[in-house]
Amino acid sequence: MTVFQDLSDYRYISDNARPGTKNVGWLGGGEEFERATPTDALLRALWEYCKVSVAQTRGIHDCELCSEPSSYNAEREGERLLLGAAEIRVFSDGPSIFAAPTLIYHYVSVHHYRAPDQFIEALLVAPGPPARVYFEKLEALGLKWNATSPGAGPRFKFGGR
Ligand SMILES: [Zn+2]
Repeated sequence: MTVFQDLSDYRYISDNARPGTKNVGWLGGGEEFERATPTDALLRALWEYCKVSVAQTRGIHDCELCSEPSSYNAEREGERLLLGAAEIRVFSDGPSIFAAPTLIYHYVSVHHYRAPDQFIEALLVAPGPPARVYFEKLEALGLKWNATSPGAGPRFKFGGR
């Protein structure tokens, strides 16, 4: 996975770059990051955002922080999401838009990645999905989105590695 510093300008997929878009949560295996135990409110909000895939890519990224890649499918309260194949957008009150990989839910819930305060604040305060105004913002910016796939169930391991 491509690593970007938190709050640097988003340029990853130029078609999806809009003025004021900042990177959040683009973690890689060798990079240090701040950790904190997430609140349930934070996880709940992230999950709702991750249900909406923005800038879907063809490939799927594994988590480089896990010793075994296991993050394709995340589960929360009986729901499943396929993570690592798209991005989310979070709108702040101000001019900033935050762009994070959907793997951010896994990074926060499993690896206790501590996202920047301004991102968390926007996440918890601004209306996100499924609020209509959220989709209107995506549309106004010309950002394509689709519902995140629930995935194909748990990954099976074949044989002994
Ligand atoms: Zn991981």
